[in-house]
Amino acid sequence: MPTPSETNKRTQPTPPIAFGGGVIRSRWKVAAPSDEEGVGLGSDAGVIALLRDLAAVCPTSTEHLTLAEHARDWWPLAMRWALQSQVPQLPVVVASPRNTEEVQRVVRICAAHDVPLTVTAGRSGVSGASIPLFGGVVLDINDLHGVVSVDHQSGVVEVMAGTFGPDLEAEVARHSLTVGHFPQSFDISTVGGWVACLGAGQFSTRYGKIDEMVVGLEVVLADGTIIRTGGAPAAAHGPDLSSLFIGSEGTLGIITRVWLRAHDLAPTRRKAAYFFPTFSAGVRAMREAIRADATPAVLRLYDAVESQRSHGGDGRNSTLIVLDDGDREIVDATLAVVERCARTHGAVDAPQERVDHWLAHRNDTSGLQALTHKGFVIDTMEVAAPWSKMDQVYGEVCAAVSAVRGARSVSAHVSHSYLDGACIYFTFVGQISSRDINDETTTEHQDLYLALWDAAQRAALHAGGNLAHHHGVGLNRGRFMREALGDAFDVLVRMKQALDPNDLLNPGKLGLPTARGEMAFPPSPNGMAR
Ligand SMILES: Cc1cc2nc3c(=O)[nH]c(=O)nc-3n(C[C@H](O)[C@H](O)[C@H](O)COP(=O)(O)OP(=O)(O)OC[C@H]3O[C@@H](n4cnc5c(N)ncnc54)[C@H](O)[C@@H]3O)c2cc1C
Repeated sequence: MPTPSETNKRTQPTPPIAFGGGVIRSRWKVAAPSDEEGVGLGSDAGVIALLRDLAAVCPTSTEHLTLAEHARDWWPLAMRWALQSQVPQLPVVVASPRNTEEVQRVVRICAAHDVPLTVTAGRSGVSGASIPLFGGVVLDINDLHGVVSVDHQSGVVEVMAGTFGPDLEAEVARHSLTVGHFPQSFDISTVGGWVACLGAGQFSTRYGKIDEMVVGLEVVLADGTIIRTGGAPAAAHGPDLSSLFIGSEGTLGIITRVWLRAHDLAPTRRKAAYFFPTFSAGVRAMREAIRADATPAVLRLYDAVESQRSHGGDGRNSTLIVLDDGDREIVDATLAVVERCARTHGAVDAPQERVDHWLAHRNDTSGLQALTHKGFVIDTMEVAAPWSKMDQVYGEVCAAVSAVRGARSVSAHVSHSYLDGACIYFTFVGQISSRDINDETTTEHQDLYLALWDAAQRAALHAGGNLAHHHGVGLNRGRFMREALGDAFDVLVRMKQALDPNDLLNPGKLGLPTARGEMAFPPSPNGMAR
């Protein structure tokens, strides 16, 4: 059977929402630094020289719609802007290298021209991470595609970074393996994006987050050096250098190739579902099961609002859905422990069809587009907290969001569990004065969006949660980085300065300081970015 690379039947990025009519423009007009020597993008000569040099290396495009699609991701705020045919910031050119050496040459050209370079992959990020904040060059990684090798005996897969989820799993399934990383965005995101954003799949309670799957990386640094990290399990030769790039969101290096751990395909799958009298009782049951080392692939608890909306709840109870894959003895024992813990905390059986319903609908995002078209402010915020703080984080975030003028609903589910805590994933919706889409309502929309995020994120941090569990930081959460990380943030700043002294790679993201220009988001009090 031919590989996806051979058939050319490759998954492609999925645009988040259709643009409104008319010419698509940059919402932010970030000024390029001027340079009289024709270096940089402050002059026509500089742009012409850049385009010429890049075109000599790999396919490039300056076609307007291509630039526009590479100027946005699934950040809900920018989805609203798209309805007015705006993207945050257009790049000058999209370069599509086909191998690591071409990536290296593109990086060196950007360095020589002193032009910022932003990697885009599936463009499924929800925090604006891949937006080329200061224009410049977008490096589209999608032509670095396909599974290169499979070490079946060790269960290690070598895959190019631009490979999408379905193409990876189709190929490794031919070897009776699975990587086990199934984010909700599985169909629209890539291996390199998972690693760059430190993502989590829906089966992570058994298979772990992406960092537990990475054996090693090939990375192109900002000076064009190609390095390889990792290689064999459990190394003790100094700090783990792979972890430097896992979660770095394109700011420290370009991941071109990834070696991932894979599992044998599971022979057995079992499911269960329970209703709990309260969310808190469900959280206690989950904690006890996990502390007893019962780690079913899926263990998701929905609060009363989400239970009623999607999981058959009666508006008061919470729903736990359980699914496990593996050898029968392990799966049976795992579900037995979960059942015991559930009963201890007052659970009653819910129909198992709840799990089937979740499996069938789990990746459906149509509600997001529909609500955006109707003018609602909508987003999700995922944070992790220790078990001892879960009730506080849930309570404080719900209270803080509800107190924002314009908030209409807030709800949550617990979706990824660990020995010491879990991820709690909030959905909030707000409503502004009108459903019309125009400059005035879009400004009002942005103000409410910012108010909801400020309330939710600060309440989570205050109650003992972290900043992010798997959606990353990107642009939207940059303003919280220092308060979340404290003095440790300076270590990240110094790492950036050491690896990328000219601030070439994805400048302005992760909350890192930049001299490339004024930050357009969040808007300054004088309204610069509006
Ligand atoms: C509907 C929906 C559901 C989602 N569900 C989940 C979920 O369940 N779990 C989860 O973890 N995330 C989820 N996400 C978020 C998103 O899919 C992830 O962050 C994903 O990992 C991004 O991958 P991508 O290929 O789309 O990267 P992009 O969005 O293109 O890029 C994201 C960031 O990574 C950088 N980057 C990408 N590739 C590379 C590379 N090769 N080298 C260096 N930097 C790189 C970019 O510069 C950017 O900063 C969801 C998103 C949507 C829209």
